[in-house]
Amino acid sequence: MTLRIPGPTPLPEAVLQATGQQMINHRGPEFVSLLREITARLKAFFQTEGDVFILTASGTGGLEAALVNLLSPGDRVLAVSVGYFGDRFARIAEVFGAQLTKLDFPWGEAADPEIIRERLIAEPGFKLVLVTHNETSTGVTNDLAAIAEAVRISTSSVESSLGDGGSLLAVDAISSLGAIDLPMDEWGCDVVITGSQKAWMAPPGLAMVGVSRRAWLAVERAESPRFYWDFRPLKTYAGRGQTPFTPALSALYGLGRSLELMAEEGLSNIFARHRRIGRYMREGIKALGLELLADETHASDTVTAVRVPSGVDGGELLARLREEYGVILGGGQGPLRGRIFRIGHMGYVSEADIDRVLKALNSLMV
Ligand SMILES: *Cc1c(COP(=O)(O)O)cnc(C)c1O
Repeated sequence: MTLRIPGPTPLPEAVLQATGQQMINHRGPEFVSLLREITARLKAFFQTEGDVFILTASGTGGLEAALVNLLSPGDRVLAVSVGYFGDRFARIAEVFGAQLTKLDFPWGEAADPEIIRERLIAEPGFKLVLVTHNETSTGVTNDLAAIAEAVRISTSSVESSLGDGGSLLAVDAISSLGAIDLPMDEWGCDVVITGSQKAWMAPPGLAMVGVSRRAWLAVERAESPRFYWDFRPLKTYAGRGQTPFTPALSALYGLGRSLELMAEEGLSNIFARHRRIGRYMREGIKALGLELLADETHASDTVTAVRVPSGVDGGELLARLREEYGVILGGGQGPLRGRIFRIGHMGYVSEADIDRVLKALNSLMV
């Protein structure tokens, strides 16, 4: 079988083996070394001097954790959305009582940093800005550097007079971090969330969250109810090399091993491989006469969304790929259901994997 959905992604053999190890005492010395080593390796990818916490949760748990630690009910939040996952991030903020302003861009396009900047200047006082780095539902990567700069510049001047450092920026990087460059500190992101089953070549079950120094002030003051997600005990326990609650040990074993492999390959090589494969995927799709959903200037290196050709049933296409060719792709989400299909190419992926997908698609098309 060729599993090419945008997460969970396939595991290298060494990672698979690591997940099968015997349980250990999560309050014992072996766990302390495991957590410290994994955290140090993760910090290299987050490119932060701040904290990186590991939560036993899927990515969405990480999104919720970020919001309950930053927000109080009634806080104003600007949620930038370019698709299904941007909408989800916004919805979580709403559920916890934020006063939400939604800034939507058409699905398939990237967010325009200039429009974000204008909005922040026209309506000052947002406590938090939410943005998706890589929108997995459309295959679009936002220009996060430019968005972060727009947030910093347009809010800090207004709000520094109020004794505040401007709006905080929370980034859903669930399907980008580990595959696409995201220097969290340099760009000025305050909370960055990712998930083990996407670019990290690890099993589902862990959300990894980077928290900037600046974000801590908000964490101390936030009034949203929180217990399991509370960053404060996470930090206290992390200081002793532990987690407050029982961690998903098997997933951590896998992540520990995959991070070793990633360190061997090196950050810049990993990013270059994803850029190369993203391009290879898109060129292959176009060569088959198929149409990409995403604006190509912002096409994602980790997931490609393809329009279902007119006259073709999207569900049936995916079923035939699975049954006749053993190729498993993702469908469309929300309003894109049946209208697109999505190919994941993050983590453990090479050109040969893309060739298998293209070959199957080619056989079905003729
Ligand atoms: C996968 C994904 C999520 C959801 O993650 P879960 O692990 O399924 O909770 C959220 N945002 C983005 C951008 C994703 O790719």
